[in-house]
This record gives sequence, C-alpha cells and structure tokens, in this order.
Amino acid sequence: MRCSICGSDKHNARTCPLKDKDIPRDHAFWVKFDNLTQRESLDLKNRIEQDKDRIAPKARGTSVRGKKTELPTRIQEALKLLGGGNGSEKK
Ligand SMILES: [Zn+2]
Repeated sequence: MRCSICGSDKHNARTCPLKDKDIPRDHAFWVKFDNLTQRESLDLKNRIEQDKDRIAPKARGTSVRGKKTELPTRIQEALKLLGGGNGSEKK
C-alpha cells in the first residue's frame, strides 16, 4: 500500500518517517504501579512495551520492575545508565 504522505510503497502513512517530522518530541511520561503480584507486574510491563511500539515507535523508554522495597535502588541504577539526564535508553 502506497504511503499517502510521501508516496513511498515501502511503508504506509502510519509508519512514514516524515509523518511528524515537524512536531516537537519534548514530552515524557512517568508512571508507577504498586500492589501488584510478580505476574501482574510482568504482564503490565510487556503490554506497555507492546503498546509503546505501536503508539510511539520513535519514543525511547526505560522501565524498572521488582519488589517495591528494591525499587528505589533499581530506579537510581536505571537513571545512572541514562548519563547526563539528556535522554533515555531505547529498549
Ligand atoms: Zn511515507
């Protein structure tokens, strides 16, 4: 199917690299869930990653999952991996 934005037949308008090239990418999304079972936390993580790829394929993300008593340390470790706070790692 031909892209209705640029005319290429290698992708469609939803995945067109020119689709939102002039729209600023300056927003972020932070969320925390608790009172979860281990299974629920894994299911939520997997579903969020799938939805992220579908809804915002250009977005970068990082997540931390674990027992809530371990989370503050794990979050700190994840933030250290990001370097100077100017971005995040793609999963
Ligand atoms: Zn296109």
